[in-house]
Amino acid sequence: MSKHHRCLPLFAAVNLLLILQPSAIGLPPTTTPITRFQNYLRINTAHPNPDYNTAVEYLTSFARTIPTLLIQTLYFTTPDKPLLLLTWPGSNPSLPSVLLNSHLDSVPAESSKWLHDPFEAHLSPDGKIYARGAQDDKCIGMQYLEAIKELEINFHYSPTRTVHICYVPEEEVGGFDGMARFVESEEFKKLKVGFVLDEGQASTTEEFRTFYADRSPWHVVIKATGVPGHGSRMYDNSAMENMMKSIEVITKFRENQFDLVKAGLADPSEVISVNPVFLKAGIPSPTGFVMNMQPSEVEAGFDIRQPPTADPDLMRKKIAEEWAPEWRNMTCEITEKGTLKDFMGRPLMTATNDSNPWWSIFKQAVEAAGGKLAKPEILTSTTDARFMRRMGIPTFGFSPMKNTPILLHDHNEHLKDSVYLEGIQNRAQLKHRSAHFQRSNKDSSLLCAKFSSLLWTCTWLYQNFLPNSNQLL
Ligand SMILES: [Zn+2]
Repeated sequence: MSKHHRCLPLFAAVNLLLILQPSAIGLPPTTTPITRFQNYLRINTAHPNPDYNTAVEYLTSFARTIPTLLIQTLYFTTPDKPLLLLTWPGSNPSLPSVLLNSHLDSVPAESSKWLHDPFEAHLSPDGKIYARGAQDDKCIGMQYLEAIKELEINFHYSPTRTVHICYVPEEEVGGFDGMARFVESEEFKKLKVGFVLDEGQASTTEEFRTFYADRSPWHVVIKATGVPGHGSRMYDNSAMENMMKSIEVITKFRENQFDLVKAGLADPSEVISVNPVFLKAGIPSPTGFVMNMQPSEVEAGFDIRQPPTADPDLMRKKIAEEWAPEWRNMTCEITEKGTLKDFMGRPLMTATNDSNPWWSIFKQAVEAAGGKLAKPEILTSTTDARFMRRMGIPTFGFSPMKNTPILLHDHNEHLKDSVYLEGIQNRAQLKHRSAHFQRSNKDSSLLCAKFSSLLWTCTWLYQNFLPNSNQLL
């Protein structure tokens, strides 16, 4: 890449983008960023039968319109679970690369409870695109490509660092046959990834949300055993009595954590959440349960989510000694669905201070484009980002959706076309430039603002680091 490109001020690039006309983009009149987004949403990749191959075919055909992109389809399990890896080669391949990740799959949708068919990608008159995956997270998957296409085709821009764009299967079912396999592969090692942008969540305010960690889920099943007895007898150490004592202890712990949230001392994702998810007890009868018999076994299941600041050893000890103590004839089974530490034993989170140069760059890029970042957050649930963080790779979750209701996994998931197209473009700049912009239809007027924060972020990353910079390893 030439020095000129590298030093192109961000706003100069923004201004150029803002005065683009559709004819300059060279798009057929029927194809717009919105229709391309709708087409991707119409491919049903919801569980339990996600059609990954059609989604990969569609993305591949779009990627082929960007001449320099290298396209690979990888398989780590079965042929029906492809992983699409696109590579935008940088001028200095020795530098650590940037990975832009999104997942192909989505959760199911109960069509009867939606205003519009969840796989029709209906665009309402007020600009809302209704579709499963509109927010989570097909929006970012297409925005990555749209942004790169514009930079590549209209600005002949080539990045210093190599950029990889990855579309993974199976995120919504834990990522074990998707990103978890990929990060362990030789193919991933060869990418030399230095920084990852993964999915975030919508923000209901003017501020964009950034996620620097996930909470780690544990599934805990505790079991109490005791001597069975007649329902009329009072005696010590029945299975049910022991379980009730445990539930009392667990409830107290849950209340203490929840009180911190209610008092405003912690965000919901900063505490350890504990929620009972099943209770299994009683002796079944044809009409329900036998009422005059105390059972000899009781089981209860809990969903526990811990932030990376939690001490997993302490939690294991608490569960063993207080929630399911042996002396009360109790046992426990802990299924740790994710770790709280990275491969070096450090808490599984990406720094959001000056110790992490990627954070500064990211923040500057958003602010330079007129956007405002909310206080970085821990995600209450989990994403594939944890697999990269576990390898010590700085990873932020970021989906540029502001003033948008949080509808992931909900009925009527939708995203406004203007939000999809605008990202965090500088509204003042847009307003100013729109005076010089010939508007022919709704899409073309929005086209000038199509570049998402992802573009700004990438542009900033590429332009503000010298090719020989090695501080971002
Ligand atoms: Zn997602």
